[in-house]
Amino acid sequence: MTKWPFLLWRFAIVCLFLSLPMTVAKAETAGPTNFSSRTCTLAGHAAERPEEILKRRPAFDCSADKLTKKTDMLWLIADIGDLQNGMAEPVLRFRAARQGAVLLHSVYPDGSTQTNQYDQAEMTSRWRSPYAIALPLISRDGQFPQTVLIGAANPWDPSNWNDIELIEAKADLALHEQSQLIGVLVAGLLFAPLLMDFMFFVFMRQRFIFYHSLMTVAIVVNHICWSGLIFDLFSSATLVDRSWVAFIALAVLAFGGCMLVRSLCDKDKLGKWGALSLKFMAWTTLVTTTFVMIFAEQLSLTGSLIFHAVYGLMAVIALGNLLRCAIKGDRMAMLQLLGLSGAAFIAICRVIRAMGWIGDLPIFDFGFYIAILAEALATSMVVGYRAMQMRREHEEALLVKRGLEEIAYTDELTGIPNRRAFQAAFSRFVASEEKRGQACAIAIIDIDHFKKVNDQYGHTAGDMVLMQVAAIIRSQCRHGDYFARFGGEEFVLLLSNQTREDIARSAQSLVESCAAYDFRSSEHEIGQVTISIGLNYLSNHAEADLETNFRLADDALYKAKKSGRNQVNFALPGNLEFAAA
Ligand code: GH3
Ligand code: MG
Ligand code: MG
Repeated sequence: MTKWPFLLWRFAIVCLFLSLPMTVAKAETAGPTNFSSRTCTLAGHAAERPEEILKRRPAFDCSADKLTKKTDMLWLIADIGDLQNGMAEPVLRFRAARQGAVLLHSVYPDGSTQTNQYDQAEMTSRWRSPYAIALPLISRDGQFPQTVLIGAANPWDPSNWNDIELIEAKADLALHEQSQLIGVLVAGLLFAPLLMDFMFFVFMRQRFIFYHSLMTVAIVVNHICWSGLIFDLFSSATLVDRSWVAFIALAVLAFGGCMLVRSLCDKDKLGKWGALSLKFMAWTTLVTTTFVMIFAEQLSLTGSLIFHAVYGLMAVIALGNLLRCAIKGDRMAMLQLLGLSGAAFIAICRVIRAMGWIGDLPIFDFGFYIAILAEALATSMVVGYRAMQMRREHEEALLVKRGLEEIAYTDELTGIPNRRAFQAAFSRFVASEEKRGQACAIAIIDIDHFKKVNDQYGHTAGDMVLMQVAAIIRSQCRHGDYFARFGGEEFVLLLSNQTREDIARSAQSLVESCAAYDFRSSEHEIGQVTISIGLNYLSNHAEADLETNFRLADDALYKAKKSGRNQVNFALPGNLEFAAA
């Protein structure tokens, strides 16, 4: 895949990721009447009755940080006032993370009360994406309650509680359908990086792509849960199922994230202990989340603390390692750090908030979602970057390999193919000439009395003569001929032409060209240097083996030397016909 389509593709995914939090933001702010300024919370016990709770009204916390964290029963109270503003079919919406039953206690203007209990199945059916459960505000004799008290048992993750808001049932449903549609679209589009990764994984078989795929799957699943799509997709799903899937998906996300950091960071910079700590945290988050989910009922309060502590620790370790590698100059780590810092910062804030050390801010909940998505898209870019980098490395390695091959198959002095290359080329030459139906031959070319050149002018001059002979022969080669230095002052040439006569003429012309050339080195006028050629026609292509044909050509060369040098000799008697020409 070329660079630009690839980057554009990743950019499109970035945009898609960004559309997700916007969807949530739109749905979150859509309520026409928000009672947040009048909603108060109180920690309580499941055994307490609504009437008793109402008597403890001054104990309700109505400050900015009004969510009470440490409780097995969370009470929310809101004064609605006189609801005579013509709102048809009002419903109360509030957010919930994990609980099976909700109690709605309504106080009417005449002082009478009514308590309704909603069980697990009803809660699920009343789920309105994203995040919100919608309870009906029940009128009595045409009168709406002025004060409502909502009790939620086992608010397993109290950080996900939000204020009660009032909305028309019709608007609530419209919002539900709208976000459902966008949710479905986004969930579908979120699979895009997965398909991409799948392709990469098939071709590259790199573990980091597998971990990134794991993260992407986890984000998609998490999105399906939190947006409430899970209830539309699986009508029998409960709130507990939703929590299970969402939190396990989060654990898989953390697992994939740790492993991804581990495999993308520079091994030397990360070090043995860094890699080990990441692996340890990857498995710890996975195992701890499963454990906490299984024992959620028994661990209603500690579960949340364990959960936050483990995720906090994971964030610190992942960030610590990335920071360490980034400081050492690892670019992969720098990029990942950039992507992860938002999510990690909010995760740490949430842990501290769950401990009750700092106050509550909406950004801790909503921002976390955005941060995770931002992280996901940054990771997507990092993975793409790494994949491209690997491709580059692969190409460079190929170039080096080709370079080495060239060195191995080229004669250093003359720059033409060497004996090794010639041996590999022989069968190729024979096969291609057979297809073309041309006449072809093998010629061994030897410089006459070369030893004398060396003796008289020195080895360097000898080298220059070798180079010049090679250049003369090469300049006369036709397309399809193959010329190589066989060793010493011996060359080998594979010739092809229309007829045997043409070949013989070419060989003769080589001898004449050399004899006519005025050889010289940088220091000496050498004058004439001649060559002798032993030539053998390759008669039966299919059975042409190098050894036999080479031997025949070599015999012919021997004869050429014996007959006075500076000539071509032909291996077969019939060939001699041309020798005189
Ligand atoms: P003939 O005509 O019978 O072929 O005689 P010749 O002297 O050419 O043959 P001989 O085989 O006796 O000598 C070949 C010489 O080529 C010996 C060797 O020193 C020289 N030679 C081989 N390789 C190189 C080389 O790379 N550079 C130089 N300068 N000389 C080389
Ligand atoms: Mg020789
Ligand atoms: Mg020689």
